[in-house]
Parts: sequence; C-alpha cells; structure tokens
Amino acid sequence: MILPVIAYGDPVLRKVGKDITAEYPNLEKLIDNMWDTMYNASGVGLAAPQIGLPIRMFVIDASPFADDDDLSAEEKEALNGFKKVFINAKIEEETGDEWTFNEGCLSIPEVREDVSRKETIVISYLDENFKEHKDTFGGLLARVIQHEYDHIEGVLFTDKLSSLKKRIIKGKLGNISKGKVSADYRMKFPDAKKGR
Ligand SMILES: [Zn+2]
Repeated sequence: MILPVIAYGDPVLRKVGKDITAEYPNLEKLIDNMWDTMYNASGVGLAAPQIGLPIRMFVIDASPFADDDDLSAEEKEALNGFKKVFINAKIEEETGDEWTFNEGCLSIPEVREDVSRKETIVISYLDENFKEHKDTFGGLLARVIQHEYDHIEGVLFTDKLSSLKKRIIKGKLGNISKGKVSADYRMKFPDAKKGR
C-alpha cells in the first residue's frame, strides 16, 4: 500500500527515532508499505519518519544508481540489486575525505543541493529478520545510507547547507510545508490549509 510522504516542516521529521523490537505491530506489512511508497515515488531510499513513524528504520534500493555510465564495473555491481532494510541502525564510524554529491529528498520535492559527506561508513543494524549485521560501505552506497540515517536522527540534508544556501531556499521550504509544490506522488503537508 502506498502511503503519503510526509513533507518538510512536519515535526515528525525532526524526532530522533526510537529502536524497535521484532514485536513491533504489523512490521512485515509496514516494510512492504515502505517499499511500495518508495518505488511509487521513484526514490532510492525511504525512512520511517517520512511516513510519519519516529522509529529507527529505513529501506534502500540503490539499483537505479547502477545505470550511471561514469561508474566502474565494480561500483555498478555493488549498487545493482542492493536492496536492504536497516533496523535500529547505528553508524559506528565515518572515515575518508569529504566529497560532494547532489542530493534530493522525497520529503523536499524540487530542491536539490550539493551535500558534503565522508566517504566510508561502518554501520551496525538489524535486517528485517532481526539478524545482526556490521558492514562497511563506501561511495554512493555510503551516501544513500548516510542520508537515510540522518532521517532517523531527525536531520535533513538541507541542514547541512551553508547559511547562504539555507537563506536562498528558505522560501521554497516554507512553500513545501504549505503544499505549494508539485510532486507526482501523494504527500502530507503540515501547513496545508484545511478543508480544501
Ligand atoms: Zn530524505
């Protein structure tokens, strides 16, 4: 089932997510709904706060990035078919040089900006079967994970921009929270006028 994506300005996007247990109600269904919602919006990742739940869970399918012709065969292989659920994730380590990549977010349509992040991460997490993992990821995979991980920490990519950039996009962000934006997927806007 496709759920509405929570737009910029909703307080749920600012909450630090809580850990969950395997007994979390209807977890399997919830994960299915997150996939449906993400694919419907052509996203590569979606975090639980973006569907209104302040819990530490996000899903990623990085396959679309594998189409980039600038990547090496090795990089393409790592991205293609990378489909994972991350539960109760914790980034243990971030290392390497910072590099910039043009990021966007399903909660912030029509805004894309260069964001600087470290190259490599070590992350521990549980998968959908609550099996423990501790993995190292680099490059674009690390990038997508860092973006989604920020969501479960209540952080958005726009927080990472320079104060000048923030000033420039302030009006746009205000409009998004009011619903004055066009997205080709269903969204829920915190400051939309009621009864329209
Ligand atoms: Zn996002």
